[in-house]
Amino acid sequence: MYIVQIASECAPVIKAGGLGDVVYGLSRELETRGHTVELILPKYDCMRYDHIWGLHDAYLNLSVPWYGAAIHCSVYCGWVHGRVCFFIEPHSQDNFFNRGCYYGCNDDDMRFAFFSKAALEFLHQSNKRPDIIHCHDWQTGLVPVMLYEVYKYHGMANQRVCYTIHNFKHQGIGGAQTLWGTGLNREDYYFQYDKLRDNFNPFALNYMKGGIVYSNAVTTVSPHHAWEAHHTDVGCGLSHTLHQHQSKFQGILNGIDYDFWNPEIDRYIPYTYTKNTFDQKIYNKKALRERLSLRDADKPIIAYIGRLDNQKGVHLVHHAMYYALHQGAQFVLLGSATEAKINAHFWHEKQYLHKHPDVHLELGFNEELSHLIYAGADMIVVPSNYEPCGLTQMIGLKYGTVPIVRGVGGLVNSVFDRDYDQNYPAEQRNGYVFYQSDNQALESALGRAIALYNHAPQEFRQLAIQGMEYDYSWNHPGAEYVEIYEGIRHK
Ligand code: ADP
Repeated sequence: MYIVQIASECAPVIKAGGLGDVVYGLSRELETRGHTVELILPKYDCMRYDHIWGLHDAYLNLSVPWYGAAIHCSVYCGWVHGRVCFFIEPHSQDNFFNRGCYYGCNDDDMRFAFFSKAALEFLHQSNKRPDIIHCHDWQTGLVPVMLYEVYKYHGMANQRVCYTIHNFKHQGIGGAQTLWGTGLNREDYYFQYDKLRDNFNPFALNYMKGGIVYSNAVTTVSPHHAWEAHHTDVGCGLSHTLHQHQSKFQGILNGIDYDFWNPEIDRYIPYTYTKNTFDQKIYNKKALRERLSLRDADKPIIAYIGRLDNQKGVHLVHHAMYYALHQGAQFVLLGSATEAKINAHFWHEKQYLHKHPDVHLELGFNEELSHLIYAGADMIVVPSNYEPCGLTQMIGLKYGTVPIVRGVGGLVNSVFDRDYDQNYPAEQRNGYVFYQSDNQALESALGRAIALYNHAPQEFRQLAIQGMEYDYSWNHPGAEYVEIYEGIRHK
């Protein structure tokens, strides 16, 4: 099959979170299975150009209709760790992708409406006719809308769309200007509830809703999150739409790329190891302590890696840190916050704990350091309020770092409580799970983990090794996506 992924991120060149990892990892897996995969991405000024090989002009005269006129774009092609990527660069005063950031601008709705339009124009004008177009999140929700309402009548009637939702919280809210900009026009038509009208704000168009309504298949990133989105408020207002389209909606647990996240071959860590040489992990722990100026002592290191956002349960991250210190453990935090209040809070904590020998807060985004933390820590906490899939627990498992997670979304599908899980035999359990979002619940799980580490180190070691035995590679999800593509291809 010929598959084109249209997305706003692709790791490691453009990565704000898990979306980037998934777009890269799935593409690689599909190619390994013999499919042809190409990616279409915005050409941001701030992406990691050092991860692109052979960037060259691919299509210099892409004219994208916009507000009745047109914006001239250049399309560049390059290889991102083996994947063929096309980067679209618009030349207009809007400077859509020269903002020094990926997201967070006031006109994000128009930036990504334009990107979606430009991606389709590129396919159309360059005569690319993929069997499957796979779009991701709100940024590309308008792709299937425009494909079926416009491009279908211009030689693209055979293309089928799979749409994956990575986060229901951000749905892409636009208005009439979206319709006029993209040339969809026809306000009365699109402002209907069975089309793009937001389910709760009658004056808004919802891009993600458009993605659900118009795609041939819709997925989210874990089976449990699919259930939550359909049946609880986690769907952020889209439950009804999912219900109407339930026959084409399902959850597929993400994988992680074991070429990149693998302690056996990881070039960012000083000592590689496998489950058979698990005891080498201690040298990474030493290296982590040296790097972060933590004292060398017989204590577990507990880590948090992730965005510092309400989604991630920041109040519990904060509590986990103080609880760990109180229990005589060490704590390492690597995270960045976009919200000013949360940012200020963690900077304050960092200064307050500056001289503490058992804690380090690294505020910012640091890919290299994250690898050393996964390899050097003993446990990783993921106390999310909601978590569509979550990658950090799966990466932790691969590195023999025991996850302590809240039982929501994809965490339910990937971590099984050592003491209480009823569905898995003891030798297949791999971490600790708590359910409520209060301090006591977190303590009940983290406390059990620290106690096992301190009082039964061999059993703790065994638990970590059991985690390493899990296969959360793209192998299984890759097969599931291919099955979906095959299912919609001939419809
Ligand atoms: P989300 O997509 O909600 O941000 P995920 O758990 O799905 O969360 O994916 C997070 C990914 O981003 C992981 O690969 C994690 O290692 C990485 N990551 C998150 N924050 C940071 C950071 N501050 N520095 C380096 N990597 C980070």
